[in-house]
Amino acid sequence: MSENALRGLPAVHRFLSDPRIAAFDAVLGRERVKTAVQAVLEDVRISPGLENASASLPALSTAVLERLERERCESLLPLVNATGVLLHTNLGRAPLAPEALDAVTRLGAGYTNLEYDVLEGRRGSRYERTNALLTGLTGAAGALVVNNCAAAVLLVLDTFAKDREVIVARGELVEIGGGFRLPDVMRRSGAVLVEAGSTNKTYIEDYERALSPRTALLLRTHPSNYAMTGFVAHVDARALSALRRRAGIPLVEDLGSGALVDLAEYGLPHERTVREALAEGVDLVTFSGDKVLGGPQAGIIAGSAALIARLRSNPLLRALRVDKLTLAALGATLQLYASPERRNEIPFFAMLRTSLDDLRRRAQAYCAAVPQAAAVPSSAYAGGGTLAQCEVPSIAIEITPPGGARTLVERLRKRELPIVARIEEGRVLLDLRTILPHQDPFVIDALRQVLE
Ligand SMILES: *Cc1c(COP(=O)(O)O)cnc(C)c1O
Repeated sequence: MSENALRGLPAVHRFLSDPRIAAFDAVLGRERVKTAVQAVLEDVRISPGLENASASLPALSTAVLERLERERCESLLPLVNATGVLLHTNLGRAPLAPEALDAVTRLGAGYTNLEYDVLEGRRGSRYERTNALLTGLTGAAGALVVNNCAAAVLLVLDTFAKDREVIVARGELVEIGGGFRLPDVMRRSGAVLVEAGSTNKTYIEDYERALSPRTALLLRTHPSNYAMTGFVAHVDARALSALRRRAGIPLVEDLGSGALVDLAEYGLPHERTVREALAEGVDLVTFSGDKVLGGPQAGIIAGSAALIARLRSNPLLRALRVDKLTLAALGATLQLYASPERRNEIPFFAMLRTSLDDLRRRAQAYCAAVPQAAAVPSSAYAGGGTLAQCEVPSIAIEITPPGGARTLVERLRKRELPIVARIEEGRVLLDLRTILPHQDPFVIDALRQVLE
């Protein structure tokens, strides 16, 4: 007699033949499902004095299903972003273009020339693979790709400013979402922070006063989702560039988002492009691959060839290097910048340029299928650090559920394809600008089911 039977517990196979539990085979694999059943039974076995009711097949099946659902949600899942925030760090930032995904499949499935020179038949460098594209798009003489923008900043500080001083305007010493704090990154790199100016006003004289024989570089940072208005003064890059020439030290700028094109074309405020920053005399810029660039997570450093060469010879680079899949996706994304038409295949730009009329048409399909739904004007947000506060006019599906907004949002989130919506004043809003059009039928179906 099995131990389960001894304790009066149902046998494992009885759970495995429950279609609701068996459905998890496809998602988690048979072994994990079996392990989950055994774990639930084990919990009952070792807890003394459990009521008979909680050891019944239906009660135990519910416990198994909850456990399986928790395990499913802990794995990396696709979901529907109905928040209206286009570049949402919690939701994986930029979705990739089909071309980028094709490149990942094509190059990831076999061997590549990642570190091999096919012309000469000898060792090559992974860091060359996207260089021509990056220098062509930014006007930089050299470029280097690392894991993310935080890694890019760390590498720059470690290479040029270890045990030396870096001058930063006090108003730029900010924390960016996700715990990126410039003063902390600087401390870890061994650079000594020297603050210039006051919180709200910094003049070129403040930088001049902060210069010392130990100064290694001047650093500008994009304050990202922090904005100061009113009684403020900043020093522009041109003035700093003149100062860095006199002092004979590099000027570095952490752009964060790193626009490669003028975002005003997409109805956003003009964001200084990488090319513009370099043209103003910045020696090196750092930016992310998965913000407005619309590619995979990566940190890109672009600028002076001599400085890039020094970064490349830093042994720390080995710990920050990118893999072939990132380079494949980044290269394919950058190729789409060849023309405005192709660039619109990048989901970030496609979402931005979708017209309100298109969104209204999509909203009609929702309202026709879901009696409780209404189409309302909404504000989507570009997101992604530097553009966090930039509003993009949009259309949302509004639902005021009788059972409360929180319950509805929770039920949408717990779907097999989770839907992340937002609540505003007791109403649930699903912003259509960030719902990918091919997801509409799933979302409509989900709304009908959960509102039933
Ligand atoms: C987003 C951001 C970073 C961090 O970029 P990651 O790619 O997430 O590491 C650094 N600096 C600025 C100014 C940013 O906006």
